[in-house]
Amino acid sequence: MWHRLAGDDPLPDPGTPLAGALDWDRRHLLMRTHTALHVLCGVIWADYGVAVTGGNMTPGAGRLDFELDAMSAELGAWAQRRVNEEVERARAVIVDFVSRADAANDPALIRTKASLIPATVDPLRVIDIVGLDRQADGGTHVAATAEVGRVVVTGTESKGRGNKRIRLALSDA
Ligand SMILES: [Zn+2]
Repeated sequence: MWHRLAGDDPLPDPGTPLAGALDWDRRHLLMRTHTALHVLCGVIWADYGVAVTGGNMTPGAGRLDFELDAMSAELGAWAQRRVNEEVERARAVIVDFVSRADAANDPALIRTKASLIPATVDPLRVIDIVGLDRQADGGTHVAATAEVGRVVVTGTESKGRGNKRIRLALSDA
């Protein structure tokens, strides 16, 4: 996270009170992009039942890697259609808190490797795209999937056995 100083302001001394301003355009684009990746995760989980192995994101574009056996342009086209269907459904995105004990019994949360989160974090913050995707998550998201806007799958790649990549972008970004 970068905090940029206004103009030529000098670096403040430790303990100096500060006022900060959020770069909303950038933040909102990240919220939309990140939520689009959740939707992708959700449609792959619903139809293929495989977990995410990695991911990355910049404002307006991102990628996820899945434990899939095969990848194809057809699968990419299917994913784009399914993601946009779920975006158009305007599913609510809810922030929830779940105890570690309950999380251990929730297959959707185990999938996102909640066990990697330090045991001292209890309860876990959970992002629930109602009816689609549920993950232990510390990120920022929009309030409903419709806010994501149109999503384009920009590429599919095989990164090796059981590791297939889907790239997406927001069409207006
Ligand atoms: Zn998230």
